[in-house]
This record gives sequence, structure tokens and C-alpha cells, in this order.
Amino acid sequence: MHKYDVFVIGGGPIGLTCGIAAKQAGLDYVIAEKGCLVNSLYNYPANMTFFSTSEKLEIGGVPFMSIANKPTRNEALEYYRRVTQAYELNIRLFESVQQVVRTGDGSFEVYTSKQIYHTKNIVVSTGFYDVPVLLDVPGEELDKVRHYYKDPNYYAFQKVVVVGASNSSVDAALETWRKGADVTMVVRQSAIGERVKYWVKPDIENRIKEGSIKAYFNSNIQSITKDEVVIQTPDGIITLANDFVLALTGYKPGFGLLKQLGVQLSDDEKLYPTYNADTMETNQRGIYLAGVVVGGMDTHKWFIENSRDHAGRIVQHILQTQQAH
Ligand code: FAD
Repeated sequence: MHKYDVFVIGGGPIGLTCGIAAKQAGLDYVIAEKGCLVNSLYNYPANMTFFSTSEKLEIGGVPFMSIANKPTRNEALEYYRRVTQAYELNIRLFESVQQVVRTGDGSFEVYTSKQIYHTKNIVVSTGFYDVPVLLDVPGEELDKVRHYYKDPNYYAFQKVVVVGASNSSVDAALETWRKGADVTMVVRQSAIGERVKYWVKPDIENRIKEGSIKAYFNSNIQSITKDEVVIQTPDGIITLANDFVLALTGYKPGFGLLKQLGVQLSDDEKLYPTYNADTMETNQRGIYLAGVVVGGMDTHKWFIENSRDHAGRIVQHILQTQQAH
């Protein structure tokens, strides 16, 4: 029976960083990714530009060259693929981790969609992009309601409601409007989000001011039907004719896997997982967290730049623990 030193769950930028650190330390590791390589990035909007400059997205000491200082999604996909190739990382794609069982000697059996692995340690680097935060209103289950946005051409000449005022919502509103969609934004807060990319914010604010894109602030969707959307606004309830709803109201980590692993979550609405910030080990011995998953519901606090170093801390702790035994 082959037993790995480290099993990394998730092949996003930080899971890859953990694989690189493990390889550099001479540990026997494997990465399992449920989708394609850097699956979350692959599923980002097609025309998306990162808010980070390219050097802040670098991993494994490999320079990231992009045409402009802020790279595009395509450039990032190419970069992480080349890094994976250069390091010859041991990664299994389209293989999702479904269950983890601790064995009598304290190591783990990992059940994926394809096979069972044995490992001494586990790194959970599953990100936050798999589970959308729902509106929780009648009609949300309709096919016309989308929680992910890919490409504006699909929405040409359609009546589109965009929910939210974050980067994702603003990009979707501007892009679909520029392809001829009739766009209305429904925003819970009183203004466009403070974290919206500084070079995009004036664009959306000016489109709203001139009336090209309609926006209801301090407003909420109340219900959705096949042809309409009902909105609660400060001036009362209004009903709009509607073809599509882009409910881009954020995402959250897959807490199911963390709970299944026995990782403690804070009992407030933030659901912060318990871990030691020096080692990244959770309350479960041999189970580590890396990347944006550490932030619980605070998904904007962690990104690539400030979570790249999780990998080094984890590998160092695994090496120390191995030496101690
Ligand atoms: P992810 O990239 O989400 O990787 C997690 C991986 O785990 C995924 O590929 C997923 O498929 C896989 N996975 C999940 N569950 C399982 C399972 N059970 N079995 C196997 N695999 C599993 N960050 C920045 O630093 N700069 C930016 O400019 C930036 N722009 C962003 C724009 C958008 C639209 C969004 C949504 C996010 C942006 N972020 C940005 C945040 C960014 O997503 C994260 O910083 C980055 O993806 C974190 O990497 P990660 O490896 O922790 O998580």
C-alpha cells in the first residue's frame, strides 16, 4: 500500500503552491482537483482582468509576464499551466475528494471519485468559488437565474437584472449593456461597492448617472417569475419585465468537507475555521488549510498574494513533525 506524505485537495493557485513546496522539500505528495487545472480561474468571466498585478500572482518563483500590468484570465490560465508543467507536479484532474477517514494509526484514507489514497497529512485548499450565496427568494430555481457569469454575448438584446454591486456584478452589468442588453442593477447597499476596481468604478457610476444602466439602491429582489422580477425598493414594490437574472451575490467555501473532516467552525455567521496561523494546522492533527478557504465567509480577506506563503508554513511543520517521530 502506497502512503503519501501529503494529499492536497484542490488544484487552484494555492494547491499548486503546496505541491511545489512539498516537492521542493522531497515529500511524497499528490494533488487532486475536481475540475480542470485551476478550475475556479477557468470558470471566471471570459473577459475578466485580475485586480492584482502579475507579480502578485506568481508562485514557485516563476516570473509571470503579462501584456498589461494586470493580467487577464487567459494569461493566468497559461501561466499556472506552464508552472505545473515546469515543476512536473503530480496532479490528478477531474478527480473530486468525496470523503476522508482517519485510520487507527492517525493517518488518512481519502476517497475520491476515482480511487482510494492513503496519506499521512492532508491540505485543504478548496477555495470559495464552488458554492454561490443564494438570494433565497421564490423563483431562484428558474433556469434564467444564473449565479455565475461567463460571457456578455449570450445576453444581447435581453432584459437583464444584475443583483449586487461588487466587481463581478459591475463587470457583468457593463459588459452586457455594451452588447445591447437592457440592464437594471438591484443593489442592497446605498452605492456601488468600495472594492470595485478603481478604473471601473467611474464607468459604472457614470452609466447609472446618465440613465443608460438603471439601478435600484437599498433594494432587494422579492421574487422571480418566468417573465418578471419583483423588487422591493425604498419607494415601494415594482415589477419589471425580465429575461435573465444574474445573481452575483458572492460565494462561500464548501463547509461540508471541512465539517466532515472535523474542522471546527466559529459559531457566528463568519464560520471561521480553526487553525494555527504559524503552522496552518487545524484542530485536527495532520489536517492543514491553505489559501482563501481559511477566511470562512470573509472571502475578500484572502487572495493569492497573501496566502501563497501558507504552503511554506505547512511543509515546514510536516517536516518538523516527521523529524520528531
Ligand atoms: P481556488 O482557486 O478557488 O482553488 C480551489 C480549487 O479546489 C478549485 O479549483 C476547486 O475546483 C477545487 N476543489 C474544491 N473542492 C474540491 C474537492 N472536493 N475535491 C477536489 N478539488 C476540489 N485573487 C487575487 O489574488 N487576485 C485577483 O485579482 C482576484 N480576482 C478575482 C476575481 C474573481 C471574479 C473571483 C471570484 C476571485 C478573484 N480572486 C482574486 C480571488 C481568487 O479566486 C483567489 O485568490 C484564488 O483563486 C485563491 O486560490 P485558492 O487555490 O485558494 O482557491
